[in-house]
Amino acid sequence: MRKTNFHTHTARCGHAVGADEEYVLSALRGGFCELGFSDHTPWPYPSGFVSSIRMTPDELDGYVASVRRLAVRYGDRIRLRVGLECEYFEAYMPWLRETIRRCRLDYVLFGNHYYPSDEHAPYFGHETRTPEMLERYTESAVEGMETGLFACLAHPDLFMRSYAPFDRHCEKASRRICRTAARLRIPLEYNVSMIAADEKRCWQGVPHPDFWRIAADEGCTAVIGMDAHDHTALESGVYYDRAVRTLAGLNIPTVDTLPFFEY
Ligand SMILES: [Zn+2]
Ligand SMILES: [Zn+2]
Repeated sequence: MRKTNFHTHTARCGHAVGADEEYVLSALRGGFCELGFSDHTPWPYPSGFVSSIRMTPDELDGYVASVRRLAVRYGDRIRLRVGLECEYFEAYMPWLRETIRRCRLDYVLFGNHYYPSDEHAPYFGHETRTPEMLERYTESAVEGMETGLFACLAHPDLFMRSYAPFDRHCEKASRRICRTAARLRIPLEYNVSMIAADEKRCWQGVPHPDFWRIAADEGCTAVIGMDAHDHTALESGVYYDRAVRTLAGLNIPTVDTLPFFEY
């Protein structure tokens, strides 16, 4: 399997560090042969809301241009892709479809962080503590996947960052998410970015072994995602290599590419 990563942020989102070029250089040091940028998408909030975790809409063209420039500069050493990490906010899906076309994006990742929008809804990663919130997470995940826009479901087990223990509600939610992903042939991202922090707080979070056992059982496909918010994270192979071993142990087929849009 080629070593690839399609989950990379940039400093534009306000909670990542490093220049765009540093991510490319770190990816080369880490032995990646293909790197996809998927920074948090901006959304055209009619209320004028300004999110603290995203670039602004007027930064989008500069972001795409920057990745394209780097793709040319480093084209003989690494293949670069440009995408976005997007929620499923139903009201903004026409805008997203138009943006994909206008910017000629290679792909969009489905980061199911909030629903129906982050203007009022809490972050699923911190606030999913009840079966009701879990149900909301699951509905949004399933409906989002059904749009056919997303190349993969990022951190599908995000709810386990705050929900504990993995109970019958989690089992049901995971079955529904995995069954939908398998039916639609959408790879699930085995996201390694939170392992270090979860280990430090002695928390069984993401990736959650019970979720991934269900993913294996439902015949899902995985893609390993670094979800890098610091370019140096791309240089160490510790979590990537562990992910390869874990997925092989679970007999989950792992892909090194995504279904990209064609123009
Ligand atoms: Zn995310
Ligand atoms: Zn991310």
